[in-house]
Amino acid sequence: MPAFVLPIQKVTKPSCLKGQENGKLAPGILKKCDVGSALMAEPAARAMRAMVAAMRAALNLDYTHVGAYRTYKGQEDLFRSRYTTTPLPGRPTKKWNGETWYQKPGTAMAAVPGTSNHGWGLAIDLAEKVNGKAVSISPRSVKWLIKHAAQYGFCAEAQSEPWHWRYFTGDKIPAAVLAFEGATVAPVAPVTPVAPSAKTHTIVKGDTWWKLATKYLGAGKRYPELQALNPNVSTLVPGRKVRVG
Ligand SMILES: [Zn+2]
Repeated sequence: MPAFVLPIQKVTKPSCLKGQENGKLAPGILKKCDVGSALMAEPAARAMRAMVAAMRAALNLDYTHVGAYRTYKGQEDLFRSRYTTTPLPGRPTKKWNGETWYQKPGTAMAAVPGTSNHGWGLAIDLAEKVNGKAVSISPRSVKWLIKHAAQYGFCAEAQSEPWHWRYFTGDKIPAAVLAFEGATVAPVAPVTPVAPSAKTHTIVKGDTWWKLATKYLGAGKRYPELQALNPNVSTLVPGRKVRVG
């Protein structure tokens, strides 16, 4: 994996986690998020559904996970498999249960049990699905996430873990997530046939990427393809031309 700088943000917990205990969440809080069987806390699951749909469309890859909601017991087992109280000079350490734990060589770090964002249902370890099998997330996916994850309320947690993404916007559901949800429940707009010569579109007031993708690509959810065609356009300013094919 090439060296990337992953975006890291402070996490705001959604209010559904109030009064809950890490790794012991009430089952009703956890929802599927369209990434294999992964479970996440409801707002995180909504955001992940939207983000993974955009990623699938933009990169033509499929996704699964190698970790999402993790119970307290699961966190403890993982921590014990990666850390030891036997001193390993020079290795990173963590404090747990009043003892110093040393990270075993060749392991990825693990959170102290009861503190992981996996235990809050806010984190997921993404993998790509190739021929039905989970494989490590590729640099293409990581690049996409670096550019777009924040739009969906996701950020990284550690530079050493490009697969680990966590939901950070609390009860504030990002606009891109609401747009995705609105479009999936709204009736499908009639598709206007496009002449092969139609390559650009002049923005008018009220245009959105979603509307343009519906019009020119036949499906609003394909909007990341239009964004990819217009890497220098961050806002749709009326009068400006954008590529649509
Ligand atoms: Zn993780």
